[in-house]
Amino acid sequence: MNQYEKLKRQMYMIILPIIVIASIMGLLLSSYSNPMNTFMLSIFIIVFTFSFILLLFPNTLQIVEYLNLTVISLLLLVKFYNIVTFDMIELQHPHTGSFTYWTPLILVFIFISLSKKAGLIYAFLIWICLVVIGSIHLHDIPAVGVERLLQFYLSNFVYIIFIFFVRNVITYYTEKEMVEKLAYYDTLTGVANRRKIYLWLDECVKKKQIFSVILFDIDYFKSINDTFGHAIGDSVLKEITDVVISQLEHSDNMGRWGGEEFIIVSRRRREDTAILANKIRKAIEDHTFETAGTITASFGVSIYENQPMPLLLEQADHALYQAKQNGRNRVEISP
Ligand code: GH3
Ligand code: MG
Ligand code: MG
Repeated sequence: MNQYEKLKRQMYMIILPIIVIASIMGLLLSSYSNPMNTFMLSIFIIVFTFSFILLLFPNTLQIVEYLNLTVISLLLLVKFYNIVTFDMIELQHPHTGSFTYWTPLILVFIFISLSKKAGLIYAFLIWICLVVIGSIHLHDIPAVGVERLLQFYLSNFVYIIFIFFVRNVITYYTEKEMVEKLAYYDTLTGVANRRKIYLWLDECVKKKQIFSVILFDIDYFKSINDTFGHAIGDSVLKEITDVVISQLEHSDNMGRWGGEEFIIVSRRRREDTAILANKIRKAIEDHTFETAGTITASFGVSIYENQPMPLLLEQADHALYQAKQNGRNRVEISP
């Protein structure tokens, strides 16, 4: 089940019982007995209770949505027919009644349960049916009623277009977010990739921020792969990411530089960045990894002092190399 479907299911699990309770109260509290309302509320109670029970089982979301959509659409048309022929013509009421408040909600529901295009077609088909029902009886409806009816049609026409575009905008943003995630984030660990790291670095320079980079590399990672296999190696990369993130503040950004090498862009002062690097080093050393046990990493820190970006990164890399040379599991700071 994807995220969108999960979200929809959660929404129905809350909304359906509310509608059922509201319908039961409507049935019990209604001071006058209108057979049409009694009929509709009874159908709501039965169908929505059944839908709620269905939702408790796996893979039933689509059945529930189609069932509800069919029932709601049919009731909408029947109720509208009843309003036009009974309320407006027989009783000569010049309005469509409180029922009209609910039509936009039904339109929203159509666009939630169907795809964009199908939703648009379905919503317009329902709208055309409503127009046909009204048009057939137009000459028997009082003049003020006709005006209200036209407003009802016009407003719902606008609602359909509006909801369609809102749905397009939402789709645009979710797709944009997904593309960005694919382009800028590492699929294995979920942290930023090089592309995103370069953007952070550019931003720091542009905003004239104080910043440093901490480059670190897992010690003897090859032997973890060799001993426990590549899959465990992958899980170590994920686990180490969590350990490091738990040590960071909001202003620190972490990314995967490549392989088993990571980078942190820190907006702290020089001394504080060195303290942070040591804190992370210690946290990794103290952590017991699920299968691999104890792991260490070596760190190279370089502080931005208006040097060109490639030089800043080279300095961090050189400091990291020194840390490896000097026995690993340590932090070296570029002079
Ligand atoms: P050192 O302490 O000098 O850093 O030694 P090392 O073994 O960590 O360094 P080396 O560069 O020799 O080995 C890095 C290994 O990381 C080799 C490569 O197969 C492995 N590696 C790189 N990316 C991944 C990955 O995404 N998953 C796994 N499981 N292994 C990876
Ligand atoms: Mg390594
Ligand atoms: Mg390496």
